[in-house]
Amino acid sequence: SVRAGIVVTGTEVLTGRIADRNGPWVSQSLLDLGVDVAHITICGDRPDDLTAQLKFLADVGVDLIITSGGLGPTADDLTVATVAEFCGLELRLDVEIQAHITTIIERWRRNSGRSAGGAALAAGIRKQAMIPAGAQAIPPVGTAPGVAIAASSGRPAVLILPGPPGELQGMWESAVATAPVAAVLADSGDYRTETLRAYRLSEPDLAESLRIAQGSVAGFAELEITTCLRGGEVEVVTRFLSDDAAAYAALVEFLTKAHGRQIFSSDGSTIDEVLIARLDGRTVATAESCTGGLIAARLTDRPGSSAYFLGGVAAYANEVKTRILGVPAELIVAHGAVSEEVAEAMADGAREHLGTDAAVSTTGIAGPDGGSDRKPVGTVCFGISIAGQPTSTTTLVFPGNRATVRALATTAAMHLLSE
Ligand code: ATP
Ligand code: MG
Repeated sequence: SVRAGIVVTGTEVLTGRIADRNGPWVSQSLLDLGVDVAHITICGDRPDDLTAQLKFLADVGVDLIITSGGLGPTADDLTVATVAEFCGLELRLDVEIQAHITTIIERWRRNSGRSAGGAALAAGIRKQAMIPAGAQAIPPVGTAPGVAIAASSGRPAVLILPGPPGELQGMWESAVATAPVAAVLADSGDYRTETLRAYRLSEPDLAESLRIAQGSVAGFAELEITTCLRGGEVEVVTRFLSDDAAAYAALVEFLTKAHGRQIFSSDGSTIDEVLIARLDGRTVATAESCTGGLIAARLTDRPGSSAYFLGGVAAYANEVKTRILGVPAELIVAHGAVSEEVAEAMADGAREHLGTDAAVSTTGIAGPDGGSDRKPVGTVCFGISIAGQPTSTTTLVFPGNRATVRALATTAAMHLLSE
């Protein structure tokens, strides 16, 4: 198989001032192309540190190294010079790229009403147009061109890309089409990656199923399976060669038999997408206490959400629950605001007052204060009101801090609505 290493450069990424967006994006894109990513490393803007990482990746035998960052016009951007030295290649001025960058910058200066650039600008452009001998320049999306260097006797191919994520991503298609990178990709297998998602299925239970599947699913050994817990859901991501598609189909059948309705998606769709499909044109409203609008935000995440989401009430105070949603004050006194009785009245009130086919409500204790023995922090009551059906209620207790409880409750509401 073809293996790659990614080196993210930039002191701002190393120190955590900005979060790395290039490593994960490139890794995912390579996986889609059938390339295994062996390492993602991060180093600051020091040439010695970059050289050390290039050496390391060459030593472990990757076929392709991809770097991000350090292509700017200033003296502290040293990636191209450092990689060239590592590869034993001299830098040459690429006049075509030089002219290209000059045109881009002149156009930009004209549009922003600035006068012609001086000597410093010309020097910066010249620096960015210095390309290792024999390497291929990749036309810039911003002003920094990328560089593709072919593999040579024992040294992997190297693809140099700019740091700004928009520039890097905009250059990706032409970068993977360059001869040096295409030569590496030609040896990669025809892989597929499929995702299956389950809710309220514990990781140990899933692990046990996979252990049994090992002995009963034909071709199981050809499947590369990773499981990941995410926001109360379990994701099972499987990568396999297209030739082994039958083994994957058998795995899906096996897991569906074992866990039935807990598996809510086997085609990669998220609960949000599943919910929209199940709503099938029906409209929804929200009445949220402890989630304070997070469910409404989730429901309006995608374009076209006005087709099913009409509105919601962040009914945080009891007064709002009674005045706006029509929850009887006596109900709150008798059962407490965090109760299935109040959740039911909130959902019914939202559906009625907002005139929808369905409504979901939450009332709970997100913490850190306000918990009791009977209703510990993390307790959330849900109501689901659907026209023509008795209103249903559920109480769940979530672990974690305030943010986690609210996030888990929001996801739970999406699942309850879609059931
Ligand atoms: P430029 O021509 O824009 O200087 P460059 O290749 O030199 O390109 P860098 O100087 O490394 O890019 O980074 C420029 C900016 O791009 C950073 O300040 C940061 O905001 C963003 N950036 C760089 N690397 C990353 C990364 N790995 N993840 C997210 N953002 C990044
Ligand atoms: Mg820079």
